[in-house]
Amino acid sequence: MQRLTWFLIVTLVIPYLGFTSYPVVSDRVDKVIIDAGHGGKDPGNLGTRRYKTYEKDVALAVAIETAKEIEKKYPDVEVVLTRDSDKFLELYERTALANREKGDLFISIHCDAVDNKAAYGTTTYVMGKNHDDENQVALRENSVILMEDNYQEKYEGYDPLKPESYIALTLYQYAFQTQSIELAQIIQNSFKNDAGRRDRGVKQQPLYVTSRCSMPSVLVELGYLTNSQEEDFLLSSLGQKKMANAIVASFGSYKNRRESNIKEQETKREAKRLKDEEEKRKENLKPTYFIQLAVSGLKKPLNEKPFSNLERVSIKKEGRLYRYLQGDYNSKSECQKDLLFAKNNGFPDAFIVAFKNNEKISLTEAERLSQ
Ligand SMILES: [Zn+2]
Repeated sequence: MQRLTWFLIVTLVIPYLGFTSYPVVSDRVDKVIIDAGHGGKDPGNLGTRRYKTYEKDVALAVAIETAKEIEKKYPDVEVVLTRDSDKFLELYERTALANREKGDLFISIHCDAVDNKAAYGTTTYVMGKNHDDENQVALRENSVILMEDNYQEKYEGYDPLKPESYIALTLYQYAFQTQSIELAQIIQNSFKNDAGRRDRGVKQQPLYVTSRCSMPSVLVELGYLTNSQEEDFLLSSLGQKKMANAIVASFGSYKNRRESNIKEQETKREAKRLKDEEEKRKENLKPTYFIQLAVSGLKKPLNEKPFSNLERVSIKKEGRLYRYLQGDYNSKSECQKDLLFAKNNGFPDAFIVAFKNNEKISLTEAERLSQ
């Protein structure tokens, strides 16, 4: 697409997508939304049809196990399940719930299906447009919208059968893309290394459920229910536990990575604060020099002669006396030119004085501190 067109979409479309301001990704991961795909009248894919257990059942079992384990391992983390029973939820409700709950992360759990019965393995999707396979996964996972009443109104012209309408969705998640991909990558690695599954990679699809969340979001396809072996694995409680544990471990790594950013920033801030303090301390140790023009019991106006002959004249009150000073200067030698000028312009008795932390010190002391 032309750069200008992208620019127009970004500037014209994004403001109308529901963010009041450009979203900011939080580095804290305190709340996770776990979304079990499908449910109720929407069974998801039916797998090999050898059993009466479908995608919605596997998704729910793994989602519940994942939630339970995260709560156990990370007591400070709040886990919200979009559904904890076999009920129908519109896609719209899932993302609305996630946004209302202000989650830091959204993980949607699904199972794959394809005509080729030999296909197997796990894939994690992040929001984006895929030009290669015509968004087949998106067509399947978004199609539940067609089961919903008045979907045209609710989804604002978004048509699950028309990939063109996905473009705006792609942009909606743009702010969270980096974090979403990071999490997706960690999950895929864990599926491969911890659960021993075939890693089909991280892919992009314009999936509604990951598109409308104001937080990093991924959609996990645990494997193919159309593959007998993989279906048996995913229907077994051991298989479900393995997949859930891999998601939990990934959640933990992602959380640590994000939050180590916070610690890193805090460490940097603290180091800067200490450095500033040290510099200030050194600065305070340094003497400042002035030319003392006069000392008087009377306060004299500086805009009158002879004071008006000179620049940078100030008054320092000490007890009942007023000290008339010109300066400040960083060194004694810096004072010399102005001292001569002052002597010749109304202050023949002017001389150099030094201060440290606002207190007068001897010139000898000042010279010592200056070294
Ligand atoms: Zn699904």
